[in-house]
Amino acid sequence: MKKNLYSLFLVGISFASFNFQAQTHKCAAATNFEKKLIENPSLQLVREQAELETQNWLSTHPNALQTRNIITIPVVVHVIYKTAAQNVSTAQIQSQIDAMNEDFRLLNADSLPDVHPFWQYTADSQIEFCLASRDPNGNATTGITRTSTTVNFFDGNNGAEKYTSMGGKDNWDPTKYLNIWVCNLDPAAGLLGYATFPSDLSNFPDDDGVVINYTAFGIGGTSVSPNTNGRTGTHEVGHWLNLSHIWGDATCGDDLVSDTKVAETSNYGCPSFPFNPNSTCGSDASGEMYMNYMDYVDDACMVMFTLGQANRMRAALNGPRAGLLSSNGCLPIANMEEILSENSFEIYPNPSADNFTVNTKNKESVDIHVYDLVGTEIVSFKNVNQYPHEMSLKNLPNGSYFLKFTNGNSTITKKIVISK
Ligand SMILES: [Zn+2]
Repeated sequence: MKKNLYSLFLVGISFASFNFQAQTHKCAAATNFEKKLIENPSLQLVREQAELETQNWLSTHPNALQTRNIITIPVVVHVIYKTAAQNVSTAQIQSQIDAMNEDFRLLNADSLPDVHPFWQYTADSQIEFCLASRDPNGNATTGITRTSTTVNFFDGNNGAEKYTSMGGKDNWDPTKYLNIWVCNLDPAAGLLGYATFPSDLSNFPDDDGVVINYTAFGIGGTSVSPNTNGRTGTHEVGHWLNLSHIWGDATCGDDLVSDTKVAETSNYGCPSFPFNPNSTCGSDASGEMYMNYMDYVDDACMVMFTLGQANRMRAALNGPRAGLLSSNGCLPIANMEEILSENSFEIYPNPSADNFTVNTKNKESVDIHVYDLVGTEIVSFKNVNQYPHEMSLKNLPNGSYFLKFTNGNSTITKKIVISK
């Protein structure tokens, strides 16, 4: 629940008043976020500015999800293992990607029935994920790295798993990929995972990404009940796209989203509806939205993002995480015979509603082919040799496309986004 605009200035304060309780602290995203602020007080201004920009984007794009515009985020999964069991299988990794694709697209089989009072708030965020098929150097990849470590467990404190020099694995360019580390988090801490927030990306790029305990990762395999539905991944990626816990990390706190309902504190297990109705926090007869992915209930009982949360994630993808929109990490390597310098062609504006301008320094004559995400050619422009060259693509639906520039000998592929 969002209280008012001014409350955003109190984010730091609300994060400071954590609700320590007897039950497991399942996610360390908020605590690590707060710890960074304590160590770097100047971050407060940066985060306030980022929140203002988020609110500004939201107010100027009130219907962002009414136009179909699916964003696909390239993912690299870094497996950090000491034991054979921790070296999770490719199938288990794919199951985590699949689970997120269902949850973020409202394709999960366990979504609320349409007669449920909260059904009206559920949303398809139009965000999807792919295991990267192209690494930051343009080479073919499975989207998975595997690193053997001597570290017994990681403490979940923005720790060693993110650094090759400390027994983990350095992240890939966090402006172009979602980095997910899978490792053994301290079993005594009971942590399922944690994530970084987009407002910290520019100051802490090496930390950026999501960490998931191998016992709460994916479906089946090494995942352990009740964390067997891949929802730790959904929850942590929610943080990574700028969502807070639904209780705002304070008693009756504020998560900066207007349609998530007030929550007294974190919820566990599998509550019954309505839960905590007419509370002192001001809940109505329907009570709290404990079945939201950003609560702490069991995997089997969290089933929804709201429209407000979906819009907030879209704001992040049009703000600090906008670099993902031009990432070609999901482009199959088979579509590119050879890569020239990535900078030899520039395209602007990108995203654009209609016209894209192509410019290049070497003025060579090229053919430009426009492909959709599955590699179907939509249109082409032959023998382009006058620059800047303006292309009208206004008749294409919103979405991501690839431009392939070829001069007969070599090929460059660039991603564009049409957004009206
Ligand atoms: Zn969390």
